Amino acid sequence: MLATSPPLPTTFTLSSLQTCKKTKTTPAHCSSPPPPPSPMDLQPKRVAVCGGGVIGVCTAYFLAKKGASVTLIEKSSVACAASGKSGGFLALDWCDGGPLASLARASFNLHRSLAEELNGTESYGYRPLTTLSLTVTESEKQSPPSRDKNLPSWVDGPARGLRAIGSTETTAQVHPQMFTKTLLSKAVENYGVEVVIGKVDSVGVEGGRVESVVLEGGRVIESDSVVLALGPWSGKFEMLSSLFRVYGLRAHSIVLEPKEPDAITPHALFLSYYPEQGGKPMDPEVYPRPSGEVYLCGMSSEVELPEDPEQIVGDPESLEVLKRVASTVSSHLVEGEARLKAEQACFLPCTDDSVPVIGEIPGVKGCYVATGHNCWGILNGPATGAAMAELIVDGQSTVVDLARFNPARFVGRRRKG
Ligand SMILES: Cc1cc2nc3c(=O)[nH]c(=O)nc-3n(C[C@H](O)[C@H](O)[C@H](O)COP(=O)(O)OP(=O)(O)OC[C@H]3O[C@@H](n4cnc5c(N)ncnc54)[C@H](O)[C@@H]3O)c2cc1C
Repeated sequence: MLATSPPLPTTFTLSSLQTCKKTKTTPAHCSSPPPPPSPMDLQPKRVAVCGGGVIGVCTAYFLAKKGASVTLIEKSSVACAASGKSGGFLALDWCDGGPLASLARASFNLHRSLAEELNGTESYGYRPLTTLSLTVTESEKQSPPSRDKNLPSWVDGPARGLRAIGSTETTAQVHPQMFTKTLLSKAVENYGVEVVIGKVDSVGVEGGRVESVVLEGGRVIESDSVVLALGPWSGKFEMLSSLFRVYGLRAHSIVLEPKEPDAITPHALFLSYYPEQGGKPMDPEVYPRPSGEVYLCGMSSEVELPEDPEQIVGDPESLEVLKRVASTVSSHLVEGEARLKAEQACFLPCTDDSVPVIGEIPGVKGCYVATGHNCWGILNGPATGAAMAELIVDGQSTVVDLARFNPARFVGRRRKG
């Protein structure tokens, strides 16, 4: 009953059930033939993209490249959250066999072509990588097992069970913040995207069709289409949370600057790490970057999402564990041999079925969502953005079949739940 025709408020608010009344009204009795195309129909489509993470920025870039007139709205700063603090690891075929397979493959290839187009090697640290899986047991630090000669020389800790799980054909990396910022500056310079710093408070809807975005403080941005790409904060948006759950999973990371950066080779490490004090193995990841820095991440848990992305703090114990992992894996990463450049936390945007939500929101014409990319948002940003641009401008996506990601899959479920 509730599934097909929910009542449509004129404005959907971010934080509460309160709705703001709009003054503009449309006569309900129009039954005359459609008017001839007006000069307005020939104008580029005005699209407001809400959220300056990798998903919002990729969407803005591809929309503007297709000729739309795009305003990107970010409440804090571009790539201030997960899109600036993630690993930036990319894999061609790791999602094969699952619902993300075609999105991941299309995105991996788009990353390669974007890197050529935008000089990604120089501007955001794009490079192919070899990827290894290892078992590391902290208690074996003093008497390490015999060394596998195929280990990269800087991995001189107690490692066993070495396996190559990705090659330079199938795995790569970007610096996620530099990638997101580079793409946005190209979108601004080459395609005229306007960037507004402000908090999206509500989406104005008239007669079941989106018509504006309202910012905190009252500024109204008139739009033909709106894209909500708010990462884990999407869950705070009533229009979305009434349909499906998006929640944040906090994960930690550190960035180290070794004294001898040239010793660190382009090998990403996926660890099964057995801590000294026992307990379950952990699965931290280690990504050396072309700059010589080494990024480590892991230690995730569901905690409350702060309203302000700048107020996200990490759990000191989890950050300590990552430092211990670094010093166990490599003598180049122990305190004194490497400077701690950053210790931080951020939130993965997750959905209950672990599949991103990409498409038009049922019952609100012109209002789209792109979120829930979990641990693959940097990889899947480009194909998500390109597919969204096609969906909004052409009416359908050829880059990726978006059926599996359609928000309509939740219709009925959440309310029944
Ligand atoms: C530790 C860690 C490591 C990761 N490693 C990888 C990896 O190696 N490879 C990979 O592919 N992915 C990785 N990810 C996942 C990836 O980072 C995320 O999936 C991706 O960044 C999500 O992007 P987003 O644009 O959806 O969200 P976010 O980056 O969270 O961006 C959302 C933006 O919306 C803004 N916003 C929120 N509310 C409002 C509002 N009301 N008005 C205006 N703006 C608003 C926020 O300020 C924020 O800038 C990792 C994530 C973590 C946490």
